[in-house]
This record gives sequence, C-alpha cells and structure tokens, in this order.
Amino acid sequence: MDNFTFHNPVRLIFGQGQIAQLSKEIPTGARVLFAFGGGSIKTNGVYDQVVAALQGAGLHWAEFAGIEPNPRYETLMQAVELARREKLDFILAVGGGSVADGCKFIAAAIPFVGDPWDILAKRARITQAVPMGIVLTLPATGSEMNCFAVVSRDETHEKLSFGHPAVWPKFSVLDPHSTYSLPPRQLGNGIVDAYVHVLEQYLTFPAAAPLTDRLAEAVLSTLVEIAPRAMANPPDYQARANLMWCAAMALNGLVGSGVPQDWATHYIGHELTALSGIDHARTLAAIWPGVMALKFEAKKAKLAQYAERVWNIRDGSEDERALAAIAKTRAFFESVGVPTGLSSYDLPADIAAQIAGRLAARHQAPLGEHGDIDSAMVKRIVEAA
Ligand code: NAP
Ligand code: FE
Repeated sequence: MDNFTFHNPVRLIFGQGQIAQLSKEIPTGARVLFAFGGGSIKTNGVYDQVVAALQGAGLHWAEFAGIEPNPRYETLMQAVELARREKLDFILAVGGGSVADGCKFIAAAIPFVGDPWDILAKRARITQAVPMGIVLTLPATGSEMNCFAVVSRDETHEKLSFGHPAVWPKFSVLDPHSTYSLPPRQLGNGIVDAYVHVLEQYLTFPAAAPLTDRLAEAVLSTLVEIAPRAMANPPDYQARANLMWCAAMALNGLVGSGVPQDWATHYIGHELTALSGIDHARTLAAIWPGVMALKFEAKKAKLAQYAERVWNIRDGSEDERALAAIAKTRAFFESVGVPTGLSSYDLPADIAAQIAGRLAARHQAPLGEHGDIDSAMVKRIVEAA
C-alpha cells in the first residue's frame, strides 16, 4: 500500500429540506457572493430556498448569475471584480460542478496578488482564499467534497485544473430533490463522471490496498445497481439520494487512499473539451476504452478482479474476463445515454495529434499511474476513439 494522508474537512449536510441549514452554516454577519449558473435554480425552486435561508439569517448578499458549463475564466473574473468591489467575504456556490469549481477559482483569485490566471497556468502559490460553501444540484464531479477545480479560457482554448487546501468548501448541502429537474443528458453524464472517477483510482496496479479496493467496488456496484432507477421518470428519491452520495464518495479522497492513481482519461478528456466543447463525461466515456486497450497487459489482473467483483463475471481466462469487464462498462455508459466513442462528433482530422501536442507542450504527458503514457500513446488512444 502506498503512503497517504487522508483528510476531508467538508461538512456534508445531506437530505430533504436541508438547504434551510444555510442560515446556520454561513457565518453571522458575512457578506455573501451568491453565485449560480444559467438559471436552472430559478425554475426548480432551489433559488427561492436559498434566498429564504439568507433572508432568515439576516445576511447581506450580492448575486452573480451566468457561470457556464466548463466555467470560463473570463466570466469568473467578473465575479472576482464584483466581490472585491463590494467587499464580499463568503462565497455560496449553487449549482453543478461548474459553479462549484468556478467558485473555488473565484475564492482563490479574490485575495491573489498578481495575475490570477497563473493559479491555473503556472500553479502559482496560493496562500489564502475566501471561505466558501456549496449547494449542489448535480451529482457528478465530487467537487462538493474535494479541493480541486477545472477552469476554461476561451481566448487560448485551454481547460486547466488546480487544487489547494485553501479552497476546501466549508460545507456542502446535498438535497436529492434539487436533482429532480435534471435532464436525462446531465443525469447520464453525472453517473459516468462519478464512475470514471472511481475507475481512475481503482484500475491501477500494483493492487495492494484491499480495503480501498472494496470501498471503490462498493461505489461502482452501487452506481450500476441504481443507475436505471436514477434515470427513471418520475424521479425516485432513494435512487437520487444514493446517486448523490456515490458521486461525493467517488472523489473525496477515500477511494484514492493508498493506491496509485491514473487520471490519463481525465487529462486527455479536458483537452478534448477545450478543443471541441464536448461535455466532460462524454469525453471520458469516449477516451477510457482506448486507455484500457493500450494498458491492457499492465491492468488486466485488476480488470479481472473488477470483472468478478462488480460484474459477477467468473468464467474464462484472465484475458477474457478483463475484456468482458471493459465491454460491460461500455454497455453501462451507453445504457445511460453516453456514447463510448467519438464517431458521433464532428471533429477535425488531426484532433489526436493536437491533443498529444498540447499535453506534451504543457509537460502533462507522460500520463498514467506510472507516468508511462507518452504523447505518441496519447495520440493512439484518441485515434482509437
Ligand atoms: P455543470 O457544467 O455544472 O452543469 C451542466 C448543466 O446542467 C448546466 O447547463 C446546468 O444548468 C444544468 N443543471 C445543473 N443542475 C441542474 C438541475 N438540478 N436541474 C436542471 N439543470 C441543472 O455539470 P457538471 O457535470 O456538474 O460539471 C462539469 C464540470 O466539472 C466540468 O468543467 C468538469 O471538467 C468539472 N469537473 C470537476 C471535478 C472536480 O473534482 N472539481 C471533477 C470532474 C469534473 P444551469 O447553469 O442553468 O444551472
Ligand atoms: Fe470528472
């Protein structure tokens, strides 16, 4: 088992009616930046619940609407200016992973001395951030329970990430009712993103952390079990609640404890979104099979374990079981409406070369848990999709 530090300070407030808890969770006297996305919270009742809680606590707030999917640096900097101008000292992010991630960047950028883009592009040192909390409306990213964020910049077609303990949310409120208004596309995306988060940590070698493996298998098996009910209409409270809990557990540090971590699918996926605008989860479902094909020899023992414990595949050789598990995973992604290749998208012929070149230029290749996926291999993975 690898050395690790497990620390997760996020206060998770879970369940029906819990948005009202905001009045107790936000510090008394705080001046709040209430940030959200394109308006889904205004039609599903979440906005009204947040306003009632803020009013009830007698808090001053300023609203910032319009944080888009794959939050744009240009938009986030407008919120930074608003917060600096109005001396706002607490950030409340209400929405999906994009609003949560965008607010982590805003939180770090407000007190940052220098060009805040350096936080992403140069991994500039952060010494402080404005405290923040989240009301999550889309189970997917795990951003509600981690200190990572991904931000895009239009000007340069870049999508870059950062992580820092200063941007741990103080709390996250997860009310499964807030997910009832999600369109099927976003639900399917969310299931795939959470599932791939676990796979990036679990399908690695050597396998020497049996407890962590079983925690990961529990999240995967639960997602497979509840996905059809979570996708069903009318919404099923128990299924949505368990989906929210799975997505938070998938990327809160626990299933990464003591194991090497891959993340090649995510790094390649971020470049694909930056260049083409394809939804985050859709890039993952497209790229993941190619990573498995390329690293098959190294990963096949772990894939066979995954086959047996998550998919109940016990017959055949190790190779056959490993291949069957990949096929089951693809079918699972397709079953929630997420395609597992790139053929349905209109992409430039040299997309694979562009992605490989960009990752290499940013010193982000080689990738993988052992840093052995070089840019030639990245190109082959994208071509395979
Ligand atoms: P999202 O981009 O936050 O939201 C996608 C769409 O869903 C938006 O149009 C949003 O509309 C809508 N939506 C959200 N909640 C809704 C609800 N309850 N009802 C109806 N519509 C709703 O999606 P996401 O998948 O959560 O986040 C994706 C981003 O997170 C990507 O940039 C990805 O790279 C990043 N990510 C971060 C991490 C991390 O660890 N921090 C991990 C993986 C991915 P409105 O704008 O109108 O609300
Ligand atoms: Fe993700």
